[in-house]
Amino acid sequence: MNRHEALEIVKKQLTEHRYEHTIGVMETAIELARRYGEDEKKAELAAIFHDYAKFRPKEEMKQIILEQNMPKDLLSYHSELWHAPVGAYLVRTEVGIEDEEILNAIRYHTSGRAEMTLLDKIVYVADYIEPGRIFPGVDEVRELARKDLDQALIRALQNTIQFLLKKNQPIYPDTIYTYNALIINKK
Ligand code: GDP
Ligand code: FE
Ligand code: FE
Ligand code: FE
Repeated sequence: MNRHEALEIVKKQLTEHRYEHTIGVMETAIELARRYGEDEKKAELAAIFHDYAKFRPKEEMKQIILEQNMPKDLLSYHSELWHAPVGAYLVRTEVGIEDEEILNAIRYHTSGRAEMTLLDKIVYVADYIEPGRIFPGVDEVRELARKDLDQALIRALQNTIQFLLKKNQPIYPDTIYTYNALIINKK
């Protein structure tokens, strides 16, 4: 599937704002793939489809999580987490992408996972730093991403966890596992 076809498909699933975010993630993911030696076409497709399920009704996402035997603990956490695993499922079943590396990068783009692949990391960081993002701390992560992808990811996770703590939100275990694995590996 080429870029144009992929964008035509995803555009129908998204708002204008979210489509522009997706273009930013795509461009950033391709840059990171070039810098860190990942397959640029895989990074492009994973980025284009990463938020495919973002606007599905909560009830539909909940049903897919239950029927497809996804981790049920997801349902106890914020529904913002659901579009990532549900997106991986729908990108396979509705779009027909079968590449497991691409599907995993979509599946783990919100929480991360303990053993992240290079492609997972690229999509996670690109989602965080694409040019349309303007939250506090994003410039520091942009700088880090030029030099050391793991350091960028650690800082993005620290910011996300801190943000959730301040809002009295629960933190999904995979988010903590991702952070711990990166910190432990650095030593
Ligand atoms: P987006 O889809 O491009 O907006 O970005 P993401 O998919 O990365 O994140 C969606 C939302 O999930 C963000 O608002 C994060 O703060 C939130 N989020 C990320 N990790 C966790 C977590 O562990 N727990 C909870 N409750 N929310 C999280
Ligand atoms: Fe997302
Ligand atoms: Fe993210
Ligand atoms: Fe996103």
